[in-house]
Amino acid sequence: MVIPVAKRRGVKVFTWSEDVWNPAVRSVEKIQEKDLYGRNARTVCFNNPDHHNFLMGLMEDFTRSYELDGIMWGSERYGAFGNMVESVHNRNGNDPSLVTCFCNFCQEKARGRGINVDRAFEGFRTLEAWVRSCRGGKRPTDGYHVTLWRILFRYRLKPEEEWPDGDNNVIIYKTESVIVELTTDVGLKGIGGASRYNGPAEMKEYAEAVVKPAILDKNPFDVEYLAAGLCGPRARGVWAGVDTAMWDIIGKAKGLPLYKILATDTEPVTHIRMYASGGEFTWQKGSRFVGPDDLVKQARRHKAAGYTAFKYRPGGGFARLGIKMADFIPYMRDLRQAVGPNFDLIQEANTRWSMEQCIAIAPVLEELKYLWWEEPTRKNVDDYVKLKKYLSNVKISGGETMPNRATLAEWVDRGAYDIVQPGCDDAGVTECWHMARMAGSRGKLICPHNWQDGLITAANAHLLAAVPNRFLLESNMTPNPFKEGLFKEKFQAVNGYIDVPQKPGLGVELKDGLEELYAPIPGNWNMPDPNFPR
Ligand SMILES: [Mg+2]
Ligand SMILES: [Zn+2]
Repeated sequence: MVIPVAKRRGVKVFTWSEDVWNPAVRSVEKIQEKDLYGRNARTVCFNNPDHHNFLMGLMEDFTRSYELDGIMWGSERYGAFGNMVESVHNRNGNDPSLVTCFCNFCQEKARGRGINVDRAFEGFRTLEAWVRSCRGGKRPTDGYHVTLWRILFRYRLKPEEEWPDGDNNVIIYKTESVIVELTTDVGLKGIGGASRYNGPAEMKEYAEAVVKPAILDKNPFDVEYLAAGLCGPRARGVWAGVDTAMWDIIGKAKGLPLYKILATDTEPVTHIRMYASGGEFTWQKGSRFVGPDDLVKQARRHKAAGYTAFKYRPGGGFARLGIKMADFIPYMRDLRQAVGPNFDLIQEANTRWSMEQCIAIAPVLEELKYLWWEEPTRKNVDDYVKLKKYLSNVKISGGETMPNRATLAEWVDRGAYDIVQPGCDDAGVTECWHMARMAGSRGKLICPHNWQDGLITAANAHLLAAVPNRFLLESNMTPNPFKEGLFKEKFQAVNGYIDVPQKPGLGVELKDGLEELYAPIPGNWNMPDPNFPR
């Protein structure tokens, strides 16, 4: 009746049948699925040839008997795994042994695909026991509930430890550590360093308001979903700490040092060359801070301590005091002369030089055989690509605050950087690992930005140990008790190298009483130099 009318009106006609069987159907037990223990289920098995033949016959009958435009069939099922752990909508606390299908036909098909059926049974029975014990209130040993603390340490530098920075010659007068600490309900603790440049007070607020509700009671093994990925740069600092702390927990749950988990296809290297990173001075004459002639003294001191590479900065007040490249170049020559040919020099520019200044200094960097040149000019990828034409051996580095892969992609794809410098305190372990891989796949090296505390050094060291394109690790030479004073056991550079901790996770443990020792000091991390002309 209906079909000819529908056709006349131009309506297409489809059959509909559904994967729902009434248990009263005669002989249905012959095609029903079998559960984990061989009992009949109410659902029917697609691998059972009788069911298969029935469906084929049904469809043939439909299509021969009626003038149809097509057939439709509805079936919504989860697999045995999803059903067992109730990763389904409408959770109902179902019996984890009532999952399908384990009938002889299914077993045969599995064997044909190379699946070890006995092992599959064993796996599902183990999972069943795990689900029952979790429902009985027993927590898994790796823990799946996360709680969050956040620790802030601050240290006021002594007057002789202060140093000048930037074109305004601001004084760095204190140092801070922002540490994320996560605890699982089975008592595993993870710690991760977060970049303080995101503003400790704002980070604290953000952690309480946004991060805590997002991760409370979640599984730290879901780190890539919970804490990695895309995120604005300021909030990213806190998430980087959370990400690193989750990896610390994962390592501890697995009983493995983090680098062993991260080294997926490379032989790890745990003895890592560091470079002495310092070279702060001021161009202001008559200042209480050291001048450019101090660079030679610093380089000699670091060399005597066993370092084989030294990075220094352009000096406080460079632009404001109108310093020319010609004023600077003699100090570079002195430096090369003082350290000899078998010592690496690295020029940091902190994005402060113009393209004209860069083009003026590029041949000198080449001539003096510098190892790399860091962030020569403002972050414009076209300028960096252009600058590469002036260099044949000196590498260009950058990317130190990049929070994720998306921000780095164009820079490596266009060959603007030879060395990428994301750090675990800005991007977290997960994103740094991905960025290292991204750079490696294009023949670029990684030297993580590593300027803050020892906990961040630990994370960056594990990362470098685990990636094939590892290069040097930065060793901050400015006074800062958080570089070497955070942990119960010593973790520091010896003879210009650092050894990655071998204990599970990051392998480092915070000393007791740090909060009392390093109570908060309000205010920004730098202050204007009162003796510098405004
Ligand atoms: Mg830098
Ligand atoms: Zn079956």
